[in-house]
Amino acid sequence: MKQGIYIHIPFCRKACHYCNFHFSTLLKYQKPVLKAMLSELEFQKDFLKSPDIDTIYFGGGTPSILSLEELEAFLSKIRQSFLLNPNTEITLEANPDDLTKSYLQGLQQMGINRLSIGIQSFDDKVLKWMNRSHDARQAKQALELASMAGFENLNADLIYGIPGTGKNYWAKQLSTLLRLKPAHISAYALTVEPQTVLGKRVKRHSQKEAADEQIATDYELLCQMTRHANYRHYEISNFALPGCESVHNSKYWKAEPYLGIGPGAHSFRPGLRQWNIANNNLYVNKIKAGESWYEGETLSKMQQLNEYLMTRLRTRYGIHPVFIANTWGLAEKNRIINILKEWLRQGLVQKDSSYWRLNEKAWLIADRLISDLFTDEIQE
Ligand code: SF4
Repeated sequence: MKQGIYIHIPFCRKACHYCNFHFSTLLKYQKPVLKAMLSELEFQKDFLKSPDIDTIYFGGGTPSILSLEELEAFLSKIRQSFLLNPNTEITLEANPDDLTKSYLQGLQQMGINRLSIGIQSFDDKVLKWMNRSHDARQAKQALELASMAGFENLNADLIYGIPGTGKNYWAKQLSTLLRLKPAHISAYALTVEPQTVLGKRVKRHSQKEAADEQIATDYELLCQMTRHANYRHYEISNFALPGCESVHNSKYWKAEPYLGIGPGAHSFRPGLRQWNIANNNLYVNKIKAGESWYEGETLSKMQQLNEYLMTRLRTRYGIHPVFIANTWGLAEKNRIINILKEWLRQGLVQKDSSYWRLNEKAWLIADRLISDLFTDEIQE
């Protein structure tokens, strides 16, 4: 059974200016939140239909802010309540400044076998502009130290589309990263979210956004340079050396079940989605008081079809017409295929004997394209 557990650590040392995730910089409240999360693991252990687990993912926030003992407490709680596959992928998101030799050794010893390191840039000026907690030297060193400590399955996050930078800047970031050859790369276009420092600066015109042309050029260079370095582009923002795709993140794209623990975490099993309250204080108080700390919705057939289209077309897995016909009916399959045939003429999709997939260049406009396939109502 392919099922995962996601642990959301909602704390960071500094607020990055572009970040819209749920986190707090009030580190003094860590202890009660972690305690409540351990209780939640106990309360929610039956959310998944069976106890079998093949991925655990510590995300955030900044999970590497936790001590080795705090991380171990989560792992032993999970081992008590779930059955871990012997090859379970256990990922920890980490900021470069947290990765000392002794911390890395401790992570290895407790069975964490994949690190996702938030590099974002190798340029000190840009890192400062982002308000990251590390510098360029620490970014390189983190990848080197992690390899030396024995981590073979390393992901590095980078951000492109930084306003005021040119093609040379982005080529330099990619060359630096490709020389370090992590097994996996996640590269995201900078998005401007209204509630962030960046969003507010853009709103009052003290900061310009990158032009669409720059984002397109950066994306093309990313696809080209990773392809030459033998990475497989398997999701819009994700690139992996052969056999190194993220097993946990693929669950989100393949609609496989996962349990999310912590403030703001989401859980999913077929037909049902749940999300925890995204407020650390309320989360702790509700768990303590025995009140419900999450909301949920049963997904209608229409929502399930739209989610299938959205997640699968953002990946190399693609969509399968027979599966659509069997699950949502022939009329829906025909409606979707008619649109895809038009996209085939425009060079936006490709098709093999069973699957339809968006082309790499069409991924740049994937959200707009895929929403044209959505339905408001299932045709019978
Ligand atoms: S470290 Fe990560 S989660 Fe925390 S503020 Fe920065 S980008 Fe957001």
